[in-house]
Amino acid sequence: MMIYCILGLILLLLIILIVKTAAFKSKRYAVPPYEDAGIDISKAAANLSGAVRFKTVSGIDPSKTDWNEFKGYVKYIEDTYPLINEKLKKETINGYSLLYRWEGKDKDKKPVLFTAHMDVVPADETHVKWTEPPFSGAVKDGFVWGRGTMDVKIQMIAAMEAVEHLLQKGFVPERDIYLSFGHDEEVGGREGALEIAKALELRGIKFEYVIDEGGGVIEGTMPGVSSPVAYIGIAEKGFANIKLTVQNEGGHSSMPPKHTAVGVLSKAVIDLENHQCGAKISKGFKDMMTFIGPEMKPLNRFIIANMWLFSPIIKMIFSSFPEGNAMLRTTTAATMMEGSKAPNVLPQSASAVVNFRIAPGETSHDLINHIKSVIKNDEIKVEPLLVEEPTFVSGTETYGFKAIEKAIYSIFPQAAAAPYIVLGGTDARKYQNVCASIYRFSPYQIKSEDLKRMHGTDERISLDNLKKSIVFFIKLITEG
Ligand SMILES: [Zn+2]
Repeated sequence: MMIYCILGLILLLLIILIVKTAAFKSKRYAVPPYEDAGIDISKAAANLSGAVRFKTVSGIDPSKTDWNEFKGYVKYIEDTYPLINEKLKKETINGYSLLYRWEGKDKDKKPVLFTAHMDVVPADETHVKWTEPPFSGAVKDGFVWGRGTMDVKIQMIAAMEAVEHLLQKGFVPERDIYLSFGHDEEVGGREGALEIAKALELRGIKFEYVIDEGGGVIEGTMPGVSSPVAYIGIAEKGFANIKLTVQNEGGHSSMPPKHTAVGVLSKAVIDLENHQCGAKISKGFKDMMTFIGPEMKPLNRFIIANMWLFSPIIKMIFSSFPEGNAMLRTTTAATMMEGSKAPNVLPQSASAVVNFRIAPGETSHDLINHIKSVIKNDEIKVEPLLVEEPTFVSGTETYGFKAIEKAIYSIFPQAAAAPYIVLGGTDARKYQNVCASIYRFSPYQIKSEDLKRMHGTDERISLDNLKKSIVFFIKLITEG
């Protein structure tokens, strides 16, 4: 009798699992394919190429930044887009950052904001030579080459091209369109985007949505998914540099104690590595899986469709590769360490810095508690140096998300759009006081191996991608 009960329960469970899998349907839908809207792509490529030629490299130390490059860049933008200059209200914020307002017809509709940054990281050629010099802006073999082509002058230039193109046609948008371009994203965005956001907040402006750089359309990054995925960032992880310091009596290294300050500190660091913060299926992760799960091959789909039962397996699978692991938890990376200044002197003090990336839904307060409970040593000083809390998680049912999703399906019909959690940081987080729906998406399609070109060698963008990026913004403007 008992055995039949158990068999019956197993059968019931199987039926539930299968029904759930069958109901786990793709969220993709068809949209009429895009037309290129008569864009002059060689002119757009020349404009991007010109933008790349300005070495707008931001530095941690502003006194070392070549501000003439920024001045030249801002002037170049003004000259390259005469209609924007004439018809939009333009402000320069904090010297170099730009804010434009394009007035729409309907004052009852909330405005939208397209943002990007004009600064780039340096291009180092000491070890590896670039195929084309990094600030040449060479247009060759169907690509514009150079630092900033992917990260992220393309996003700024594409938005500007889209607006200039529509102005030429006499188009007036339904709602106000704002464009903002910060000048120091690569070093934290506190002088650029933060100041722009503060100015907007003072005016009481609330945006329907904000779109900034973020995930692209990328092939070969999600296990079990064969189609490219268009990653729309709905949240950013937080950031915390935590300094651990151990103080000890110094002295001569010929008569050492069993553990020096370096030894005590090392144990704490190893303990933190061995006791990582817990993996959590957060709201953002669940949202992502709801979109990507149905695109997976059958076994993966079966597991994701039944997350309620298989969450331990999902955590195991995702924890097994660095990107997946970073999506699930607050990560721990010990990056700096310092002890005595001489080989034969016992350290009076030893310190380490551990860089944590805090998962959305958690706080730096939770993190400090975690650290203290793991190292279990009151003599180790735990000191936050730089902390940025994670952002809020934007919705996937909002006007903004749907507008972006629709534009993606029109321009990249083979891709599956999906929300995701941004593992690094962008300027987008600065706009949290002026908008509740913030998305991070870069409208171009690349392969996973192209990702290393960003901040790396041979950064480049294809003309086809440039055209698609421009059309993407045209769609967002004309269909909103
Ligand atoms: Zn960037």
